[in-house]
Amino acid sequence: MKDNTATPSSPFTIAKFGGTSVANFAAMEKCADIILKQKSVRVVVLSASAGITNLLIELATGVDATQRAALLAQVRDIEYAIINQLSQAEIISQEINRLLDNIEMLSEAAALATSDALTDELVSHGELMSTLLFVELLREKGISADWFDVRKVMKTNDLFCHAEPDMAQLTELTQSLIQPRLTETVIVTQGFIGQEPKGKTTTLGRGGSDYTAALIGEALGMSRVDIWTDVPGIYSTDPRIVPQAHRIDHIAFDEAAEMATFGAKILHPATLLPAVRSGIPVFVGSSKAPEEGGTLVCAQTDNPPVFRAIALRRNQTLLTLHSLKMLHARGFLAEIFTILSRHHISVDVITTSEVSIALTLDTTGTTSSSGSLLTNALLTELSALCRVEVEEDLALVAIIGNSLSQVNGLGSQIFGTLEDYNIRMISHGASTHNLCLLVDGKDADNIVRKLHDTLF
Ligand code: ADP
Ligand code: ASP
Ligand code: MG
Repeated sequence: MKDNTATPSSPFTIAKFGGTSVANFAAMEKCADIILKQKSVRVVVLSASAGITNLLIELATGVDATQRAALLAQVRDIEYAIINQLSQAEIISQEINRLLDNIEMLSEAAALATSDALTDELVSHGELMSTLLFVELLREKGISADWFDVRKVMKTNDLFCHAEPDMAQLTELTQSLIQPRLTETVIVTQGFIGQEPKGKTTTLGRGGSDYTAALIGEALGMSRVDIWTDVPGIYSTDPRIVPQAHRIDHIAFDEAAEMATFGAKILHPATLLPAVRSGIPVFVGSSKAPEEGGTLVCAQTDNPPVFRAIALRRNQTLLTLHSLKMLHARGFLAEIFTILSRHHISVDVITTSEVSIALTLDTTGTTSSSGSLLTNALLTELSALCRVEVEEDLALVAIIGNSLSQVNGLGSQIFGTLEDYNIRMISHGASTHNLCLLVDGKDADNIVRKLHDTLF
């Protein structure tokens, strides 16, 4: 394996533990063991304990008093199951109680009026609580650890629920506030959350803790970013769909980035941006079974295979826009994309014909209080220009590989396998790394299984 990664400036590494890795006390202990063994780990980024973010998002929708009480009890139970196993629980339980009271107050406010800013404020409590508890657990195991509020360094714009971090500020602030402390202590901080210029809490989008870790790793010039999750690496496809999927031991940044972009939930789509920019290798492994090793994502690998993986992205919406104005005209697409950009809509896959354009939008993980990307305001603006058709519940299946555009017979191999299924849209050729198929959501798992059988 060739590894052309840049030389990092720090000997230290950063470790991110996802929701299942900090779901309960036993899972947290496994994470502590990893930190105990790997002395290079100096910054730890955590998600909220599994289930908490979903509960908080539900509370942020403004549920009625009965439902609110039930959801709050579930949050409390998850947190207290951890507190109850700590030896020195008194001080920490006071802090967690304060956060639980805040959650209750914010949930009551959400029942009066919801907003994206309020959602982010509420949801951030998940990561605030998991990090407080984890610091306590590390200290009980004799590890010197300090809690750090990531909002002091993760400055973002005010696009609540999908905020974009300011890398220049992150670099400057982490270097002054975190770097000098790393020789003495492990810094434990929150993934996913940030702060906009007026001081309100923001979030980076669902699954954003991976991105936080990669950004901080880059800002501090760390020598590796470790993503600890519930599977021992990146597989040829989601092992929950295809149990016989195989682990990929080494994968190049661009291949892994395609996988993440096209839905392999294992990594947040933006995670590899900082790694690619700065050439920092990313390791993915299971916190439950660190001895099983994992996947190393780095600049280049030897002999990359034609077929690397199959990724699946659910919750796709297809927008088809028809207009005779497109016929021999210029500027129509520009008008459409200007409108979409104004509404902060990112388009994934596009096909065009003489009088129509079809594009897919991803509706996964929108924590936005409107609950939908396709707002009435957007549809009204588009309808003023063209006829709009919306199809929902689709899925995007992406075949990820190398030099795919140069493979003879690729079409017959793929479409022959899928002759029993309707393929709504195809995208191939923009990148040599992928071929995407838009299919009915209910067929998606079977299509992934069939393709995996044929291609691997
Ligand atoms: P975390 O909470 O640790 O961030 P996630 O649930 O976000 O964990 O991501 C891990 C999950 O990603 C796995 O449980 C697995 O089902 C899913 N997954 C999807 N595609 C892949 C893949 N290609 N390889 C491994 N896991 C995958
Ligand atoms: N807790 C957040 C979520 O569930 C962020 C993360 O886990 O990465 O989406
Ligand atoms: Mg994740």
